[in-house]
Amino acid sequence: MKKSTVLHVDQRMLEKYNQPGPRYTSYPTAPHFTADFDANSFMREMEASNRADGEMADVSLYFHFPFCHSLCYFCACNMVITHNMDRVERYLYYLKKEIELIAAYIHPDRRVVQVHWGGGTPTYLTPGQSRSVFEHIRKHFHLAPDAEISIEIDPRTIREDHLAILRETGFNRVSFGVQDFNPKVQKEVNRIQTYEQNAFVIGESRRLNYDSVNVDLMYGLPHQTVESYKDTLDQIIAFSPDRLAVFNYAHVPWMKKHQAILPEEAMPGTSERLGILKLAIEELTASGYVYIGMDHFARPEDELSVALAGRTLHRNFQGYSTRADSEIYALGMSSISQLKNAYAQNLKSVKEYERRIEEGLPATQIGVRLTGEDQLRRYVINEIMCNNRVMKGEVENRFSIDFDRHFAAVLPELNRFVDDGLLTLHGDRIEVPDAGRLVVRNIAMVFDAYLKEDMQNARPTYSRTV
Ligand code: SF4
Repeated sequence: MKKSTVLHVDQRMLEKYNQPGPRYTSYPTAPHFTADFDANSFMREMEASNRADGEMADVSLYFHFPFCHSLCYFCACNMVITHNMDRVERYLYYLKKEIELIAAYIHPDRRVVQVHWGGGTPTYLTPGQSRSVFEHIRKHFHLAPDAEISIEIDPRTIREDHLAILRETGFNRVSFGVQDFNPKVQKEVNRIQTYEQNAFVIGESRRLNYDSVNVDLMYGLPHQTVESYKDTLDQIIAFSPDRLAVFNYAHVPWMKKHQAILPEEAMPGTSERLGILKLAIEELTASGYVYIGMDHFARPEDELSVALAGRTLHRNFQGYSTRADSEIYALGMSSISQLKNAYAQNLKSVKEYERRIEEGLPATQIGVRLTGEDQLRRYVINEIMCNNRVMKGEVENRFSIDFDRHFAAVLPELNRFVDDGLLTLHGDRIEVPDAGRLVVRNIAMVFDAYLKEDMQNARPTYSRTV
């Protein structure tokens, strides 16, 4: 078990390294997905994954439920605000068809070790609808008895009996967003969520023996200050969730038009924002949480903390994961699959998604097939982002390269991190000490072969790294 260590944050370092960069939930990153990778490419990759060398990988399933009752102005998810239940029924009809379509590509011996329902708001569905979709999943996939089955819930709208019905159905983990307890912030972002609603969901989840409760907070929202955020942290620590994520709000109104409603002049400036991050990391680690990495914290006994200590942590589109060797098949509009050799994203419009499924084809819109070089760099970046160490010998054995020679052109770029005490270089390994864990994105960027080209072309707009 990984013990919690109190992290002391040097805010000057955060400021120095606060630049735009990828979050590395995938490599190559999403801006490199193209329409050249289509439904036919995805079908070929799915077939190939059943014939992969050695054992077939376990399966993780992600399901996207885009519907929400009302708009949170900070939202960056692929969601649809609606009150039309017919629309929801139609979507579920096509989702079930997609379940049948994708399941047919997966060898029946392959175990599903993880299922996640995300959104939008998966609890927009009625308990009956949830059960019916879940039964369909069970019927078409081989669920492992100890599979991790999680769902994102909305404490503002969930019915009293819904958590119990989900537990009965098979869900064993819940996750929900709080963002901030401050009523002024809540009003501004159009998400009023009371202390009682949060307390009810936490209490019920515990009573129903859910294995894990995850809470998401957000910083960078209007009216937040270091002082006001302390109250939010104190309240959340008192709830004692198993996992916590503290996300940096990404203000991208040119991509998410509704974010323009938020008053920019009321948002905390860079220094205040980084002050909130420093406070969150120091308060949470001082309260016994383990800093897993980028935005994520967990109790010492949580699987994520255990995987961090054992250096078996992995990163994917849902954040950190302990199921390093599974392939992710993602269903529903906009969802992203991650196979050993490819990424594939479904169509982002519900209508187009439904039309494609009606044609009997995967709903792939864009994707990318990984080259050998991509796989090598993905591995190195994953090791830096998740396990804070790169063992050169392991990389050499896996990819048949000479590490120092292969990366000779970029290794000198690591020296600035060494000079700042954020990295140590050894003959056999690269190691990220605690002080460097807050800038792992910057360190990983050194190994990203696409980034220089991206920056020259001013192509994707990445969020800031810390
Ligand atoms: S409930 Fe979640 S997905 Fe829906 S609008 Fe709010 S933040 Fe976005």
